[in-house]
Amino acid sequence: MSDDKEKNGFDTDAVRAGIRRSAEGEHAEAIFATSSFVCENAAEAAARFSGEKPGNIYSRFTNPTVRAFEERLAALEAGERCVATSSGMSAILATCMGLLKSGDHIVSSRSIFGSTVLLFNNYLGKFGIQTSYVPLTDYVAWDKAIQPNTKLLFLETPSNPLMEIADVRRLADIAHKHNTLLVVDNVFCTPALLQPLKLGADLVVHSATKYLDGQGRAVGGAVVGNAELVGNHVYGFLRTCGPSMSPFNAWIFLKGLETLRLRMHAHSANALAIAQWLEQQPAIKRVYYPGLASHPQHDLAKRQHAGFGGVVSFEVSDKDAAWKLIDATRLFSITANLGDTKSTITHPATTTHTRITPEQRAAAGIVDGLVRLSVGLEDVDDLKRDLARGL
Ligand SMILES: *Cc1c(COP(=O)(O)O)cnc(C)c1O
Repeated sequence: MSDDKEKNGFDTDAVRAGIRRSAEGEHAEAIFATSSFVCENAAEAAARFSGEKPGNIYSRFTNPTVRAFEERLAALEAGERCVATSSGMSAILATCMGLLKSGDHIVSSRSIFGSTVLLFNNYLGKFGIQTSYVPLTDYVAWDKAIQPNTKLLFLETPSNPLMEIADVRRLADIAHKHNTLLVVDNVFCTPALLQPLKLGADLVVHSATKYLDGQGRAVGGAVVGNAELVGNHVYGFLRTCGPSMSPFNAWIFLKGLETLRLRMHAHSANALAIAQWLEQQPAIKRVYYPGLASHPQHDLAKRQHAGFGGVVSFEVSDKDAAWKLIDATRLFSITANLGDTKSTITHPATTTHTRITPEQRAAAGIVDGLVRLSVGLEDVDDLKRDLARGL
Protein backbone atom coordinates (compact mmCIF):
# COMPACT_ATOMS: atom_id res chain seq x y z
CA MET A 1 0.00 0.00 0.00
CA SER A 2 1.46 3.36 -0.96
CA ASP A 3 1.68 6.08 1.69
CA ASP A 4 -0.46 8.61 -0.11
CA LYS A 5 -3.37 6.22 -0.43
CA GLU A 6 -6.27 7.39 1.71
CA LYS A 7 -7.34 4.75 4.18
CA ASN A 8 -10.93 3.62 4.06
CA GLY A 9 -13.04 3.09 7.15
CA PHE A 10 -13.84 -0.33 8.61
CA ASP A 11 -17.21 -0.75 6.92
CA THR A 12 -15.91 0.25 3.50
CA ASP A 13 -13.06 -2.24 3.83
CA ALA A 14 -15.51 -4.91 5.02
CA VAL A 15 -17.44 -4.57 1.77
CA ARG A 16 -14.73 -3.68 -0.74
CA ALA A 17 -11.18 -4.52 0.38
CA GLY A 18 -9.46 -7.23 -1.65
CA ILE A 19 -11.67 -6.95 -4.74
CA ARG A 20 -9.79 -7.43 -7.99
CA ARG A 21 -12.21 -7.92 -10.87
CA SER A 22 -11.51 -10.29 -13.71
CA ALA A 23 -11.92 -9.20 -17.35
CA GLU A 24 -15.58 -10.26 -17.12
CA GLY A 25 -16.33 -7.31 -14.83
CA GLU A 26 -18.25 -9.30 -12.22
CA HIS A 27 -19.61 -7.15 -9.39
CA ALA A 28 -19.53 -9.78 -6.62
CA GLU A 29 -16.25 -11.58 -6.05
CA ALA A 30 -15.65 -14.51 -8.40
CA ILE A 31 -14.97 -18.02 -7.11
CA PHE A 32 -11.82 -19.30 -8.78
CA ALA A 33 -12.59 -23.00 -8.56
CA THR A 34 -9.34 -24.21 -10.02
CA SER A 35 -6.50 -26.23 -8.56
CA SER A 36 -3.86 -24.76 -10.86
CA PHE A 37 -3.12 -21.88 -13.24
CA VAL A 38 -1.86 -21.84 -16.83
CA CYS A 39 1.26 -20.01 -18.04
CA GLU A 40 1.80 -18.49 -21.52
CA ASN A 41 5.08 -20.29 -22.12
CA ALA A 42 7.94 -22.15 -20.46
CA ALA A 43 9.83 -18.97 -19.57
CA GLU A 44 6.81 -17.56 -17.78
CA ALA A 45 6.32 -20.79 -15.83
CA ALA A 46 9.96 -20.64 -14.74
CA ALA A 47 9.61 -16.98 -13.73
CA ARG A 48 6.52 -17.68 -11.65
CA PHE A 49 8.13 -20.62 -9.88
CA SER A 50 11.28 -18.66 -9.12
CA GLY A 51 9.21 -15.79 -7.76
CA GLU A 52 10.66 -13.39 -10.35
CA LYS A 53 7.21 -12.78 -11.73
CA PRO A 54 4.13 -12.63 -9.50
CA GLY A 55 1.29 -14.91 -10.50
CA ASN A 56 -0.70 -17.89 -9.37
CA ILE A 57 0.73 -21.37 -9.79
CA TYR A 58 -1.31 -23.76 -7.72
CA SER A 59 -4.15 -23.21 -5.25
CA ARG A 60 -2.23 -24.68 -2.32
CA PHE A 61 0.12 -21.69 -2.78
CA THR A 62 -2.28 -18.90 -3.79
CA ASN A 63 -5.77 -18.56 -5.19
CA PRO A 64 -7.44 -15.26 -6.20
CA THR A 65 -10.65 -15.82 -4.18
CA VAL A 66 -8.63 -16.78 -1.13
CA ARG A 67 -6.37 -13.77 -1.66
CA ALA A 68 -9.39 -11.45 -1.73
CA PHE A 69 -10.46 -12.82 1.66
CA GLU A 70 -6.91 -12.46 3.01
CA GLU A 71 -6.64 -8.84 1.89
CA ARG A 72 -10.05 -7.96 3.29
CA LEU A 73 -9.35 -9.51 6.70
CA ALA A 74 -5.88 -7.93 6.81
CA ALA A 75 -7.50 -4.53 6.26
CA LEU A 76 -10.06 -5.14 9.02
CA GLU A 77 -7.43 -6.32 11.52
CA ALA A 78 -5.10 -3.47 10.56
CA GLY A 79 -2.41 -6.02 9.67
CA GLU A 80 0.09 -5.96 6.82
CA ARG A 81 -0.53 -9.51 5.75
CA CYS A 82 -3.04 -12.29 6.25
CA VAL A 83 -2.88 -15.93 5.28
CA ALA A 84 -6.03 -18.03 5.18
CA THR A 85 -6.09 -21.59 6.48
CA SER A 86 -8.42 -24.59 6.29
CA SER A 87 -9.60 -24.14 9.91
CA GLY A 88 -8.95 -22.14 13.05
CA MET A 89 -6.86 -24.99 14.42
CA SER A 90 -4.69 -25.06 11.31
CA ALA A 91 -4.15 -21.28 11.75
CA ILE A 92 -2.75 -21.96 15.23
CA LEU A 93 -0.79 -24.98 13.97
CA ALA A 94 0.71 -22.97 11.08
CA THR A 95 1.69 -20.18 13.48
CA CYS A 96 3.47 -22.63 15.77
CA MET A 97 5.11 -24.64 12.98
CA GLY A 98 6.23 -21.50 11.20
CA LEU A 99 7.71 -19.77 14.24
CA LEU A 100 8.86 -22.46 16.68
CA LYS A 101 11.45 -25.19 16.82
CA SER A 102 12.22 -28.04 19.17
CA GLY A 103 13.33 -26.72 22.57
CA ASP A 104 11.18 -23.59 22.37
CA HIS A 105 8.58 -22.71 24.97
CA ILE A 106 5.08 -21.20 24.93
CA VAL A 107 3.35 -19.34 27.74
CA SER A 108 -0.39 -19.60 27.28
CA SER A 109 -3.50 -18.48 29.05
CA ARG A 110 -4.96 -21.54 30.78
CA SER A 111 -8.44 -20.60 29.53
CA ILE A 112 -8.19 -21.38 25.84
CA PHE A 113 -10.06 -23.49 23.32
CA GLY A 114 -9.88 -27.21 24.20
CA SER A 115 -8.29 -28.31 20.92
CA THR A 116 -5.60 -25.64 21.29
CA VAL A 117 -4.62 -27.17 24.64
CA LEU A 118 -4.43 -30.60 22.97
CA LEU A 119 -2.33 -29.20 20.12
CA PHE A 120 0.11 -27.59 22.57
CA ASN A 121 0.32 -30.55 24.97
CA ASN A 122 -0.02 -33.66 22.82
CA TYR A 123 1.43 -32.62 19.48
CA LEU A 124 3.88 -29.75 20.01
CA GLY A 125 4.92 -31.55 23.20
CA LYS A 126 5.94 -34.59 21.13
CA PHE A 127 8.43 -32.41 19.26
CA GLY A 128 10.00 -30.91 22.36
CA ILE A 129 8.00 -27.67 22.54
CA GLN A 130 6.70 -27.18 26.07
CA THR A 131 3.80 -24.98 27.17
CA SER A 132 3.23 -23.35 30.57
CA TYR A 133 -0.26 -22.18 31.49
CA VAL A 134 -1.14 -19.09 33.51
CA PRO A 135 -4.38 -17.41 34.58
CA LEU A 136 -5.35 -14.95 31.84
CA THR A 137 -5.48 -11.84 34.02
CA ASP A 138 -2.55 -12.58 36.37
CA TYR A 139 0.11 -10.36 34.77
CA VAL A 140 2.74 -11.24 37.37
CA ALA A 141 2.25 -14.92 36.53
CA TRP A 142 2.74 -14.20 32.80
CA ASP A 143 5.94 -12.32 33.48
CA LYS A 144 7.28 -15.03 35.80
CA ALA A 145 6.42 -17.91 33.45
CA ILE A 146 8.59 -16.53 30.66
CA GLN A 147 11.86 -18.45 30.24
CA PRO A 148 14.91 -17.70 28.09
CA ASN A 149 13.53 -20.12 25.45
CA THR A 150 9.99 -18.67 25.46
CA LYS A 151 9.02 -17.63 21.93
CA LEU A 152 5.27 -17.03 22.12
CA LEU A 153 2.67 -15.78 24.54
CA PHE A 154 -0.78 -17.05 23.53
CA LEU A 155 -4.21 -15.94 24.69
CA GLU A 156 -7.89 -15.60 23.91
CA THR A 157 -9.82 -12.58 25.11
CA PRO A 158 -12.54 -12.91 26.24
CA SER A 159 -11.63 -16.37 27.46
CA ASN A 160 -13.84 -19.32 26.65
CA PRO A 161 -16.18 -19.98 28.40
CA LEU A 162 -15.79 -17.65 31.40
CA MET A 163 -15.41 -14.41 29.43
CA GLU A 164 -12.44 -12.96 31.32
CA ILE A 165 -10.87 -9.98 29.54
CA ALA A 166 -7.10 -9.51 29.14
CA ASP A 167 -5.37 -6.14 28.90
CA VAL A 168 -3.78 -6.72 25.50
CA ARG A 169 -1.46 -3.69 25.59
CA ARG A 170 -0.11 -4.74 28.96
CA LEU A 171 0.57 -8.28 27.77
CA ALA A 172 2.19 -6.98 24.58
CA ASP A 173 4.53 -4.89 26.76
CA ILE A 174 5.39 -7.95 28.85
CA ALA A 175 6.01 -10.03 25.71
CA HIS A 176 8.25 -7.41 24.13
CA LYS A 177 10.22 -6.75 27.31
CA HIS A 178 11.26 -10.42 27.10
CA ASN A 179 11.74 -10.42 23.33
CA THR A 180 8.84 -12.76 22.69
CA LEU A 181 5.77 -12.50 20.45
CA LEU A 182 2.19 -11.97 21.57
CA VAL A 183 -0.38 -14.07 19.68
CA VAL A 184 -4.08 -13.29 20.22
CA ASP A 185 -6.86 -15.66 19.22
CA ASN A 186 -9.47 -13.04 18.24
CA VAL A 187 -12.35 -15.41 17.49
CA PHE A 188 -14.74 -14.12 20.14
CA CYS A 189 -14.37 -10.40 19.39
CA THR A 190 -13.43 -10.28 15.72
CA PRO A 191 -11.84 -7.03 14.49
CA ALA A 192 -15.28 -5.39 14.70
CA LEU A 193 -14.94 -5.30 18.50
CA LEU A 194 -11.18 -5.55 19.13
CA GLN A 195 -8.10 -5.02 16.95
CA PRO A 196 -5.26 -6.63 18.94
CA LEU A 197 -2.54 -5.59 16.45
CA LYS A 198 -3.33 -1.94 17.20
CA LEU A 199 -2.76 -2.69 20.90
CA GLY A 200 0.70 -4.14 20.27
CA ALA A 201 -0.04 -7.82 19.60
CA ASP A 202 2.26 -9.37 16.98
CA LEU A 203 -0.15 -11.89 15.48
CA VAL A 204 -3.88 -12.51 15.42
CA VAL A 205 -5.28 -15.97 14.74
CA HIS A 206 -8.88 -16.63 13.69
CA SER A 207 -11.34 -19.39 13.33
CA ALA A 208 -13.34 -17.97 10.41
CA THR A 209 -15.83 -20.74 11.19
CA LYS A 210 -17.35 -18.58 13.90
CA TYR A 211 -18.32 -14.92 13.53
CA LEU A 212 -16.36 -14.14 10.36
CA ASP A 213 -18.72 -16.43 8.48
CA GLY A 214 -21.39 -15.81 11.07
CA GLN A 215 -23.91 -18.15 9.52
CA GLY A 216 -22.46 -21.56 10.30
CA ARG A 217 -21.69 -22.55 6.72
CA ALA A 218 -17.98 -23.37 6.49
CA VAL A 219 -14.80 -24.19 8.43
CA GLY A 220 -11.77 -21.95 7.95
CA GLY A 221 -9.13 -19.84 9.67
CA ALA A 222 -6.55 -17.11 9.25
CA VAL A 223 -3.36 -15.62 10.66
CA VAL A 224 -2.78 -11.84 10.48
CA GLY A 225 0.31 -9.79 11.33
CA ASN A 226 3.35 -8.18 9.78
CA ALA A 227 4.75 -9.23 6.42
CA GLU A 228 7.84 -10.91 7.87
CA LEU A 229 6.09 -13.14 10.42
CA VAL A 230 3.04 -13.98 8.34
CA GLY A 231 4.38 -13.64 4.80
CA ASN A 232 7.55 -15.62 5.41
CA HIS A 233 7.25 -17.89 8.42
CA VAL A 234 3.56 -18.79 8.59
CA TYR A 235 2.95 -18.73 4.82
CA GLY A 236 6.05 -20.84 4.22
CA PHE A 237 4.61 -23.63 6.33
CA LEU A 238 1.18 -23.38 4.66
CA ARG A 239 2.51 -23.35 1.14
CA THR A 240 4.61 -26.43 1.79
CA CYS A 241 2.43 -28.42 4.15
CA GLY A 242 -0.95 -27.49 2.77
CA PRO A 243 -3.74 -26.69 5.27
CA SER A 244 -4.85 -23.87 2.98
CA MET A 245 -8.38 -22.50 2.51
CA SER A 246 -10.62 -23.66 -0.31
CA PRO A 247 -11.83 -20.93 -2.71
CA PHE A 248 -15.46 -21.90 -2.07
CA ASN A 249 -15.01 -21.29 1.65
CA ALA A 250 -13.08 -18.07 1.02
CA TRP A 251 -16.06 -16.78 -0.95
CA ILE A 252 -18.43 -17.58 1.93
CA PHE A 253 -16.13 -15.76 4.37
CA LEU A 254 -15.87 -12.75 2.04
CA LYS A 255 -19.67 -12.49 2.17
CA GLY A 256 -19.57 -12.90 5.95
CA LEU A 257 -17.09 -10.06 6.42
CA GLU A 258 -19.40 -7.65 4.58
CA THR A 259 -21.87 -7.68 7.47
CA LEU A 260 -19.38 -8.35 10.27
CA ARG A 261 -19.69 -5.12 12.23
CA LEU A 262 -23.48 -4.99 11.90
CA ARG A 263 -23.78 -8.55 13.13
CA MET A 264 -21.29 -8.14 16.00
CA HIS A 265 -23.20 -5.16 17.31
CA ALA A 266 -26.51 -7.01 17.03
CA HIS A 267 -25.03 -10.09 18.77
CA SER A 268 -23.66 -7.83 21.51
CA ALA A 269 -27.00 -6.08 22.07
CA ASN A 270 -28.90 -9.37 22.27
CA ALA A 271 -26.28 -10.94 24.54
CA LEU A 272 -26.34 -7.98 26.94
CA ALA A 273 -30.13 -8.16 27.19
CA ILE A 274 -29.97 -11.92 27.89
CA ALA A 275 -27.15 -11.51 30.43
CA GLN A 276 -29.05 -8.81 32.32
CA TRP A 277 -32.17 -10.96 32.36
CA LEU A 278 -30.25 -14.08 33.49
CA GLU A 279 -28.74 -12.11 36.37
CA GLN A 280 -32.25 -11.57 37.74
CA GLN A 281 -33.26 -15.25 37.70
CA PRO A 282 -33.17 -16.86 41.18
CA ALA A 283 -32.05 -20.29 39.82
CA ILE A 284 -28.89 -18.77 38.40
CA LYS A 285 -25.86 -18.52 40.65
CA ARG A 286 -23.66 -16.37 38.48
CA VAL A 287 -23.55 -14.80 35.02
CA TYR A 288 -20.30 -14.22 33.12
CA TYR A 289 -20.55 -11.41 30.57
CA PRO A 290 -18.13 -8.46 30.21
CA GLY A 291 -21.01 -6.07 29.53
CA LEU A 292 -22.36 -6.53 33.08
CA ALA A 293 -21.22 -4.13 35.81
CA SER A 294 -20.70 -7.25 37.98
CA HIS A 295 -17.97 -8.52 35.60
CA PRO A 296 -14.49 -8.15 37.17
CA GLN A 297 -13.00 -6.56 34.02
CA HIS A 298 -16.04 -4.53 33.01
CA ASP A 299 -14.11 -1.23 33.00
CA LEU A 300 -11.27 -2.67 30.92
CA ALA A 301 -13.79 -4.19 28.52
CA LYS A 302 -15.50 -0.81 28.11
CA ARG A 303 -12.17 0.87 27.41
CA GLN A 304 -10.62 -1.74 25.16
CA HIS A 305 -13.60 -3.15 23.22
CA ALA A 306 -16.11 -1.68 20.80
CA GLY A 307 -18.74 -4.15 22.09
CA PHE A 308 -18.95 -7.10 24.46
CA GLY A 309 -19.68 -9.92 22.01
CA GLY A 310 -22.29 -12.64 21.73
CA VAL A 311 -21.14 -15.25 24.25
CA VAL A 312 -22.70 -15.41 27.73
CA SER A 313 -21.96 -18.09 30.31
CA PHE A 314 -23.81 -18.77 33.54
CA GLU A 315 -23.88 -21.21 36.40
CA VAL A 316 -26.77 -23.25 37.69
CA SER A 317 -26.54 -25.56 40.72
CA ASP A 318 -25.05 -28.67 39.11
CA LYS A 319 -24.78 -30.85 36.01
CA ASP A 320 -28.34 -32.18 36.31
CA ALA A 321 -29.77 -28.66 36.40
CA ALA A 322 -27.58 -27.65 33.45
CA TRP A 323 -28.67 -30.64 31.34
CA LYS A 324 -32.32 -30.12 32.32
CA LEU A 325 -32.13 -26.50 31.20
CA ILE A 326 -30.43 -27.42 27.93
CA ASP A 327 -32.93 -30.18 27.18
CA ALA A 328 -35.92 -27.90 27.88
CA THR A 329 -34.96 -25.40 25.17
CA ARG A 330 -36.65 -25.61 21.77
CA LEU A 331 -35.12 -22.60 20.02
CA PHE A 332 -31.47 -22.78 21.10
CA SER A 333 -29.50 -25.32 19.08
CA ILE A 334 -27.62 -27.83 21.21
CA THR A 335 -24.24 -27.61 19.52
CA ALA A 336 -20.73 -26.66 20.52
CA ASN A 337 -20.45 -24.19 17.66
CA LEU A 338 -20.68 -20.47 18.30
CA GLY A 339 -20.78 -17.24 16.37
CA ASP A 340 -23.84 -18.12 14.31
CA THR A 341 -27.02 -16.14 13.62
CA LYS A 342 -28.75 -19.07 15.36
CA SER A 343 -28.37 -19.12 19.15
CA THR A 344 -26.59 -22.15 20.54
CA ILE A 345 -26.37 -23.70 24.00
CA THR A 346 -23.50 -25.83 25.30
CA HIS A 347 -22.50 -27.67 28.47
CA PRO A 348 -18.72 -27.06 28.41
CA ALA A 349 -17.77 -29.61 31.10
CA THR A 350 -19.15 -32.54 29.05
CA THR A 351 -18.52 -31.25 25.52
CA THR A 352 -15.94 -28.62 24.53
CA HIS A 353 -13.82 -29.14 27.65
CA THR A 354 -14.36 -32.85 28.25
CA ARG A 355 -10.99 -33.98 26.87
CA ILE A 356 -8.91 -31.87 29.23
CA THR A 357 -8.31 -33.32 32.70
CA PRO A 358 -10.70 -32.57 35.60
CA GLU A 359 -7.80 -30.70 37.26
CA GLN A 360 -7.33 -28.47 34.21
CA ARG A 361 -11.10 -27.91 34.12
CA ALA A 362 -11.19 -26.96 37.79
CA ALA A 363 -8.23 -24.59 37.32
CA ALA A 364 -10.04 -22.94 34.41
CA GLY A 365 -13.20 -22.54 36.51
CA ILE A 366 -15.34 -24.80 34.33
CA VAL A 367 -17.73 -26.24 36.92
CA ASP A 368 -20.39 -28.86 36.16
CA GLY A 369 -23.21 -26.32 36.48
CA LEU A 370 -21.77 -24.03 33.79
CA VAL A 371 -23.79 -23.37 30.63
CA ARG A 372 -22.52 -21.36 27.65
CA LEU A 373 -24.75 -19.49 25.24
CA SER A 374 -23.78 -18.07 21.90
CA VAL A 375 -26.54 -15.52 21.52
CA GLY A 376 -27.73 -15.26 17.93
CA LEU A 377 -29.87 -12.77 16.09
CA GLU A 378 -33.34 -14.08 16.98
CA ASP A 379 -35.81 -11.93 18.94
CA VAL A 380 -34.53 -11.56 22.49
CA ASP A 381 -37.99 -12.16 23.99
CA ASP A 382 -38.20 -15.51 22.24
CA LEU A 383 -34.77 -16.48 23.57
CA LYS A 384 -35.69 -15.50 27.12
CA ARG A 385 -38.92 -17.51 26.91
CA ASP A 386 -36.93 -20.49 25.66
CA LEU A 387 -34.48 -20.36 28.56
CA ALA A 388 -37.26 -19.77 31.09
CA ARG A 389 -38.72 -23.20 30.19
CA GLY A 390 -35.86 -24.99 31.88
CA LEU A 391 -35.25 -22.67 34.83
C1 LIG B 1 -13.44 -22.72 17.20
C2 LIG B 1 -12.27 -22.09 17.79
C3 LIG B 1 -10.99 -22.41 17.37
C4 LIG B 1 -10.72 -23.48 16.33
O1 LIG B 1 -11.29 -23.18 15.12
P1 LIG B 1 -11.77 -24.30 14.05
O2 LIG B 1 -12.22 -23.48 12.90
O3 LIG B 1 -12.87 -25.08 14.71
O4 LIG B 1 -10.60 -25.16 13.76
C5 LIG B 1 -9.92 -21.76 17.95
N1 LIG B 1 -10.11 -20.83 18.90
C6 LIG B 1 -11.34 -20.50 19.35
C7 LIG B 1 -11.49 -19.46 20.40
C8 LIG B 1 -12.47 -21.11 18.81
O5 LIG B 1 -13.69 -20.80 19.27
